[in-house]
Amino acid sequence: MRPMKTTAALSLALFFASLVLPLRAQDDAARLLSLYKQLHAAPELSREEVHTAARMAQEFKALGYAVTEQVGGHGVVALLENGAGPVVWIRADMDALPVTEETGLDYASKVRAKSSAGPESGVMHACGHDMHMTVAVGTAARLIAQRAQWSGTLVFILQPAEELGSGAKAMLADGLLARFPRPATILAEHVDAALATGRVSVTPGPIFACVDSVDITVRGVGGHGAYPHRAKDPVVLAAQMVLAFQTIVSRENSPLEPAVVTVGSIHGGTKHNVIGEEVKLQLTVRCYDAKVRALLLASIKRIAEHTARAAGMPEDRLPMVSVHEDEALGALVNTPEYAEHATRVLAAALPGGAASVARRAPEMGAEDFALFGIAVPEARLLMFRLGTIPPERVAIAEAGGAALPSIHSPRYAPDPIPSIATGIAAMCILVRDALGLR
Ligand SMILES: [Zn+2]
Ligand SMILES: [Zn+2]
Repeated sequence: MRPMKTTAALSLALFFASLVLPLRAQDDAARLLSLYKQLHAAPELSREEVHTAARMAQEFKALGYAVTEQVGGHGVVALLENGAGPVVWIRADMDALPVTEETGLDYASKVRAKSSAGPESGVMHACGHDMHMTVAVGTAARLIAQRAQWSGTLVFILQPAEELGSGAKAMLADGLLARFPRPATILAEHVDAALATGRVSVTPGPIFACVDSVDITVRGVGGHGAYPHRAKDPVVLAAQMVLAFQTIVSRENSPLEPAVVTVGSIHGGTKHNVIGEEVKLQLTVRCYDAKVRALLLASIKRIAEHTARAAGMPEDRLPMVSVHEDEALGALVNTPEYAEHATRVLAAALPGGAASVARRAPEMGAEDFALFGIAVPEARLLMFRLGTIPPERVAIAEAGGAALPSIHSPRYAPDPIPSIATGIAAMCILVRDALGLR
């Protein structure tokens, strides 16, 4: 929570001017800060990015890019063909979250909306996708201004619905690969709520996990709560399953293989004295390895069915276990050698040198950016993380002081000026390298 100072435009310009690849004018820097604040104040939920997509189309057209709208829903593709040479994709996501902002910033979102699955709530760019878009526009501006220095093709992919895990899939299904040049390099950045501004982090190899959503309908035989012996209670059965699932990761999976089985939702029953007919469970299942994935999913089904059998449920009332194969999201794997190369290139070119590039361990979160890499397996792919928090606040948190809000928190407030500057600098360094420039 850092209110913008009145000299924000000037300090932004000074910050940019201090970078290796400065923006040309104070106007550009002030314009990007203004764009960021406007995007932040006007967030739109997944699949509803109508105005955000229109704004992105307008920004890229104004820069001189060839813009295609409505690619896989509200997706926007901005193309710059600048002679023979490598093709680079740069992806930024556009959707916001059903989170009611509590940052107290003067440009905080006051937007409210009702998501398709949930109640009305505030809407907030709590995952920093407003930063990703601003960095994309700034990167596009700088690279087109430098077009005499390089040749090749840039494809900016403004993606909707990342938070649903469906936007990348929709853009690919709408012919992204057939309609636009096939990339040799695919890049994206994601904000980091625990990393200091001026820094980025790189994770060679796996960075985000593979995710499955599993629904279980635990069936019972309903009756009166006073006569449980004449019923089969699905609430007790579901409770046994939830506990039994805890042994999958701890007892069946190798301790050396990362895995998560979380029961995120449990709903059943209507009244104190009624034994209901069913309980519904919703699980998220995460790992990195295909064999582990098969083990986790098979174990969930086995435990669910046999727990029901142990309770005396007849074969025709066993639980129904469904894995949403169409919603499964593959693991995001940064190309290992390329990530090491990118680490060296960033360390050599960022103003802070090697100290500005951190190494980061993989996480069990997920990102549908993975699908672009799966769709173009021969391409080099990298998502790096962008520091957004004032260094002094990171230091306090690391010393055990005030904890930092995570992404998706209503209190997550990136420090925009240095975040935008470092995001653009890092992305331009990697794109120029991918185009064969220094
Ligand atoms: Zn998110
Ligand atoms: Zn995100």
